Amino acid sequence: MTLFDLNLDDLENFIESLGEKKYRAKQIFLSLYKDRVTSYDEMTTLKKEFRDLLKEKLPFPTLELVNRQVSTDTTEKFLFRLSDNNLIETVLMPHDYGYSLCVSSQVGCPMACSFCASGAFGFKRNLETYEMVKQVLDVEKYSNKKISSVVIMGIGEPFLNYDNVIKFIRIINNDFGIAIGARHITLSTSGILPKFKDFEKEKFQVNLAISLHASNNELRNKLMPVNKKYPLEDLIDAIKTYIENTNRRVTIEYILLDGINDLDTNAKELAKLLRGLNVYVNLIPYNETSNNDYKRSKRTNIFFDLLKKEGLNVTVRKEHGHDIDAACGQLRGKMIKGE
Ligand code: SAH
Repeated sequence: MTLFDLNLDDLENFIESLGEKKYRAKQIFLSLYKDRVTSYDEMTTLKKEFRDLLKEKLPFPTLELVNRQVSTDTTEKFLFRLSDNNLIETVLMPHDYGYSLCVSSQVGCPMACSFCASGAFGFKRNLETYEMVKQVLDVEKYSNKKISSVVIMGIGEPFLNYDNVIKFIRIINNDFGIAIGARHITLSTSGILPKFKDFEKEKFQVNLAISLHASNNELRNKLMPVNKKYPLEDLIDAIKTYIENTNRRVTIEYILLDGINDLDTNAKELAKLLRGLNVYVNLIPYNETSNNDYKRSKRTNIFFDLLKKEGLNVTVRKEHGHDIDAACGQLRGKMIKGE
C-alpha cells in the first residue's frame, strides 16, 4: 500500500492509526492533489517527525517516464516503467471540450480478443490503484495540461481488476483531489457479467461502455473469447438490468471490421438486439495492427445509416494518434518486447 492507494477516508483512518489528528489527512490529500507536491518533505504544514514517520510507514511512489511521443494530431502517448520494470502506456487526447486520458488498468490483457494488439502479448498482472492514479498525475505534470475526462480503455480488462479500479475512480473523483466528475469518467468492459451488479451498487454516475463488436454469438465467439463464458443473450440481459436499476444510458462499442461484422445483416441483428434499450452505439473505425489480418471496414457510413434507420442512437468514434500507435487497440507496452 502506498500514499496514492488511499482515498481521503482511508487516509484519515491511517493517520489516526498513527496517533495523529484526522484533519492532517485532508492537509496531505490537498497537498498531493491540489498543490501536487512530489515528496513528503514538501508538505511543510506537517512537523518533521511526522513526515519522517510517514516516509517510513507509507511509501510515496513514483513512475518513471521512459518515452513520450506526440502525434500530428497532438495526441500524446506516454510509456511508464513500474517499480517491477513492467511497462504501461497512457494516451492523452485533445477534444473540443478539453483533454481526456486513456488509462491502462492491467499490465497486458488476458482477454485475447482476436482483433486487439494489446491481448497478443498475454497478461502479466493487475495494476495497483496508485499505478492508475499516477498515470493521471504524471501526464498532467509532464504535459502541463489539465485532464477533464478519463476513459478506462487502455490496456487491460478493468472488471478483472475491479477493486483497484473502483478505488482509482473514487480517488480521482474526490472533490478534495483531482476532482474529475463521475460523468466525465468512462469504464469500458468486454463484458465480465458478475461485475455488473457490483458496479451498479457503487451508485455512481460513471459511464459504462460495453465492447460488443458482434451481432451474434458465432461471430462474437470468434472475436472475443469472453463470449464463450458470457454469451450475447446473457450480456444483453445484464445490460438491460443495469439500465433498469441505474437509469443510466450505456454505451455500446462496435468496431467495424471489413467483411466480418459490417454487413447489412449485422446491422439488422444489432438493431434487434438493442431495440428498446437506453443505449447509444459508438461505431469504432478499426485500427489495423500487425498481429492479425482484419481490415478496416469501408462501410462505416452505410452501417451508421442502417442503424439510424432502425431508430438507434449512433455516433462514430473520432480517431486519435494513429501515427504513433496510440489509437484504440494499438497499445501494447512496446518496449516489453524490446522493439
Ligand atoms: N478490456 C476493455 C477495455 C480496453 S479495450 C474492453 O474490452 O472494453 C478499449 C476498446 O478498444 C474496446 O472497445 C476494444 O474492443 C477496442 N479495440 C481493441 N482493439 C482495437 C483496434 N485495433 N481498433 C479499434 N478499437 C479496438
